Amino acid sequence: MDLYSLTLTEVAKKIKNKEVTIKDVLDDIYSRIGEVEPKVDAYITLTQNKAYERAEKLQQKLDNGEDIGVLGGVPIAIKDNICTNGVKTTCASKMLENHTPIYDATVIKKLEDAGAIIIGKTNMDEFAMGSSTETSYFKKTKNPWDLTRVPGGSSGGSAAVVSAQMAYASLGSDTGGSIRQPASYCSVVGLKPTYGLVSRFGLIAFASSLDQIGPFARTVEDAALMLDVISGHDKMDTTSANLEKQNYLEALVNDVKGKVIGIPTDFITDGINKEVKEAYDKAIETLKAAGAEIKEITLEYAKYSLATYYIIATAEASSNLGRYDGIRYGYRTQDFSDLEELYRKTRTEGFGAEVKRRIMLGTYVLSSGYYDAYYKRAQQVRTLIVENFKKAFESCDVIMIPTAPNTSFKFGAHNASPLEMYLEDIYTVPVNMAGLPGISVPGGFDSNGMPIGIQFIAKAFDEKNLLQVAYAFEQNTTYHKEIPKIEEGK
Ligand code: GLN
Repeated sequence: MDLYSLTLTEVAKKIKNKEVTIKDVLDDIYSRIGEVEPKVDAYITLTQNKAYERAEKLQQKLDNGEDIGVLGGVPIAIKDNICTNGVKTTCASKMLENHTPIYDATVIKKLEDAGAIIIGKTNMDEFAMGSSTETSYFKKTKNPWDLTRVPGGSSGGSAAVVSAQMAYASLGSDTGGSIRQPASYCSVVGLKPTYGLVSRFGLIAFASSLDQIGPFARTVEDAALMLDVISGHDKMDTTSANLEKQNYLEALVNDVKGKVIGIPTDFITDGINKEVKEAYDKAIETLKAAGAEIKEITLEYAKYSLATYYIIATAEASSNLGRYDGIRYGYRTQDFSDLEELYRKTRTEGFGAEVKRRIMLGTYVLSSGYYDAYYKRAQQVRTLIVENFKKAFESCDVIMIPTAPNTSFKFGAHNASPLEMYLEDIYTVPVNMAGLPGISVPGGFDSNGMPIGIQFIAKAFDEKNLLQVAYAFEQNTTYHKEIPKIEEGK
């Protein structure tokens, strides 16, 4: 058996038991990358030198009988909007093409303290704005299940490397679905933690009240382990929650007896692909058969999430991206005659079309005269959505909905209409609006062989319940065992 096809938990154990060396594991994963990456294009930067240096140190520690951590020697990939000291962090933008941070994000420190080896930085939509990874300045990442289709986005690279077995796990960021939707499109597990559970220090900001870092993994167990490592209070992030540390591995029990699963029938109406709906109905049956109680609930305001999201997210983005002015860091235009021209040309040349669209929209909704009509209203609707979920959770433990209304689409399919692309987020955005945890788990395939994801949502900081239901669902299905062929499909 090839090492690269093991799960994170399995490979970590083999390293610890000295059945393989860390160098063997690294050699194997980089040779897998050499073979598959030319087809998938999921990495922006590979970090072999650093990785081998770390491997040697970790192996020495292990050979000396020291503890190398729960992720000891395991190769992990990182979305390219998470700062890595001394390693380029580009946000897949020309604006940050040559940006090398001088510090590590807190999640990177935590991963490395647990023994992980960072093997590369993954492709994404520019500044995490998109649902297909097509807005990257560098390249288009292909879906390992069909190379003519998108991997989803914005963390498309991080989903594709786990799906194509070019990393044992990865980190992504999720502002409106960017972990869960690509996880669903690529048939891997993608977890967006509760807002505040994982530090955002060192995550390049898109929409600060919505952004959250989380893991991609091949199994729920591996995702739980990753969450265990990266979660926890951080004084460098003022929105970081100061709560007692939980042990998420305790949640890995295959038992849903007595758990109440909420099904928001008023939210899952038209617009959903027939085969996705069938997979969803089947998932309901699976959990019912495993002993869960299925309960219809209402989420009447969830349908307004998307409209609200595209006001709040763009407003925050327009402010966050104000810092890219050609003065402080990042791209600077070559040729300008005064300060205003420096700003204008730098931003015109440095940002892609989608980023500009968002900055313009965000600036508009925040401008005096429109602020009350759009931004303030959107904040009010956001409160209604929060209340809506609170009420729903009075009568159920976990909510289940599909992750996305469709499966992966062909490159360019939504080029003509950004709005169509935005609709792909309908089932993921409400979760960010309410700051809740959500997980996408492999839930089937359509007739083209493209993956379908099932999403579970829990109360804030109730990741344990979330993981338990997701784990039980996974243990009662076999979709996560299917491996992509990494070739062109229909
Ligand atoms: N697709 C959504 C957007 O374009 C979400 C992006 C994200 O979660 N980063 O804004």
